[in-house]
Amino acid sequence: MFQGRSLVIATKHHKEQAIAPVLERELGVRCFADTTQDTDELGTFTGEVERRLDPMASAREKCMRAMAANSCTLGVASEGSFGPHPSLPFVPADDELLIFIDTLNHIEVVVRELSTSTNFSARSITQIHELSAFAEQVGFPLHGIILRDKNPHSTVIYKGIHSMDVLLDRFDMLYTTFQSAYAETDMRAMYNPTRMEVIKKAAEKLAQKINSRCPQCNTPGFDITDVIRGLPCSLCHRPTDMIISSVCICSACQYLQVNRYPEQKYTADPMYCNFCNP
Ligand SMILES: [Zn+2]
Ligand SMILES: [Zn+2]
Repeated sequence: MFQGRSLVIATKHHKEQAIAPVLERELGVRCFADTTQDTDELGTFTGEVERRLDPMASAREKCMRAMAANSCTLGVASEGSFGPHPSLPFVPADDELLIFIDTLNHIEVVVRELSTSTNFSARSITQIHELSAFAEQVGFPLHGIILRDKNPHSTVIYKGIHSMDVLLDRFDMLYTTFQSAYAETDMRAMYNPTRMEVIKKAAEKLAQKINSRCPQCNTPGFDITDVIRGLPCSLCHRPTDMIISSVCICSACQYLQVNRYPEQKYTADPMYCNFCNP
């Protein structure tokens, strides 16, 4: 279905370095990057442009634009979001969304990789030693830093700093005018190898999902869409909130597959039981 076809990766930040090798190996496509689309109008990490679309809509928009501009029927785009982990409030997380679109076969496959492997961080700086502590903490200079003035709508902003000389120089300039600076990690993929690694993981997940086909109609992207809970407690045999079955439904033909005991566990530990351990 994909062998030998061209696939455009919508990215200005060299994400193709992480995505292309995986998709070429797993799908047999030939990847190229489209760097000409100015996707900053859809929103930037640094907030000069407010994001008006949710990450999913934004990724789809980027992907469709790059495909249209290159008359390409296969495309991939990604969108990263950074902030506290949804279930671990004090742990920062990198939430990567990858979308694959095939307009020839009317296929859209989406994956999400939520990772705590990120250097995402920010702090205000009034002294040099705070700046060096921050630089060390975020893996500078391998990872880029952004310096700006502390006002909510910064007027001065230096992005993509990845040498100590430049960092100190830009801090001096900000300090002279504002007596402080605001430092944050540059999350654009080419300035952030840790993020690039997470994007690579997302690409592997994407390839795996595309290669998973519906047993009935062979449409790619056959994957778990829901779970059923109620694994019996090993002590009292009453249902718990643990997963008993995973459910896959084909988006094309609605074929339904229920896999019992996806984790090869037939009973739940009583610690998860609302009766034995309320
Ligand atoms: Zn199907
Ligand atoms: Zn029980």
